[in-house]
Amino acid sequence: MSNQTEILQPVMQTYGRFPITLVEGKGSYVWDDQGTKYLDYTSGIATCNLGHVPEPVEKAVSEQLTKLWHCSNLFHIPVQEQLAKGLTDNSCGDQVFFCNSGAEANEAAIKIAKKYGHDVLKQDNPLIITFQNSFHGRTMATLSATGQQKIQDGFAPLTPGFEYLPYNDQEALQQLSERKPAAVLLELVQGEGGVIPVDPDWIKKLSASCKENNILLMVDEIQTGIGRTGKLFAYEHYQIEPDVFTLAKGLGSGFAIGAMVAKEHVAKVFTPGTHGSTFGGNPMAATAGLATIKQVTENDVLEKANEAADIIWSNLEELVSKKSEIKSVRGQGLLIGLEVEGNAIDYVNKAREEQQLLIVVAGPSIVRILPPLTTTKSEVEQFIAKMDQVFS
Ligand SMILES: *Cc1c(COP(=O)(O)O)cnc(C)c1O
Repeated sequence: MSNQTEILQPVMQTYGRFPITLVEGKGSYVWDDQGTKYLDYTSGIATCNLGHVPEPVEKAVSEQLTKLWHCSNLFHIPVQEQLAKGLTDNSCGDQVFFCNSGAEANEAAIKIAKKYGHDVLKQDNPLIITFQNSFHGRTMATLSATGQQKIQDGFAPLTPGFEYLPYNDQEALQQLSERKPAAVLLELVQGEGGVIPVDPDWIKKLSASCKENNILLMVDEIQTGIGRTGKLFAYEHYQIEPDVFTLAKGLGSGFAIGAMVAKEHVAKVFTPGTHGSTFGGNPMAATAGLATIKQVTENDVLEKANEAADIIWSNLEELVSKKSEIKSVRGQGLLIGLEVEGNAIDYVNKAREEQQLLIVVAGPSIVRILPPLTTTKSEVEQFIAKMDQVFS
């Protein structure tokens, strides 16, 4: 029973929420219920990569809305097949499993790695190596895969079968070949862990070591995917080819969809009955995904995003040299972290309250900036002017 004097919120209090209520969005802007307009450089945490209510997705989803919402994966879903083709044609992957979120996509990756370990590698207890400071989700298996104590605290017993190695660490490569795991799972920019980009030389060595030792390379592209880092998928920056990669956030422009993409030799261990999802890749979500992928791959979205990123990076680097409160800027493309003096949340609050600029944190001392890929030059100028004020 709750204390009678306090009002019990009907929604569980798993989030510390900002004290504003957003009711409308278009492009890079959102409006709250008081009519205040904000420049939204959070993109729903790397989800609304094409901005809010992007026209091509809106149009496709509106048309689908009058036709069929859901029918079960027991039936063929042509738009899901088209989306799978869109993903495999534009990546190193061969087949796709659809689900509804990032955690579920990583669950699917973890399951396929274990099945591959049993069926192909003939291991009794396949091990998956992940990295310190990583973030892979909040379900039991994915929080067990996550290399952060604070995410795991209070949830023991964890799912067994994970070990964590230091990220970007030379010795980890040595340990990897000694431990003989079935798979490694990692992000190429650790997003929630503080916007830490992978060392290009290290990831190439890690990939080579995986090949040499028959270890599956699994990349969590849930935050980095769909153009966020300047390429459709972040792995493309490093001339590596993951055996498995996972997607969610940016894939549906805000509609809930997740995907696990695998090369054929891995994908084939998932046979009928081994995995499933009621909603995964249903006609509505797949339509949003297909329209999003088409927009990114058939237009100059990435080119424009990279132009915006160049301007933002050079201006932020200038801010770093001017403002003693900012220690460094890091990340890749439009997944950007500012390492600040003091509490990052204080700057985030100041940006929102005084500059109507929405940004978020990634850990206690990192301000995270996630502009939509479609942000315009004039919005970028506004952003820089606002940041100059926030750190004055
Ligand atoms: C957000 C995120 C997840 C979890 O996605 P959900 O949709 O919240 O389950 C997993 N991995 C990474 C890298 C993420 O950024």
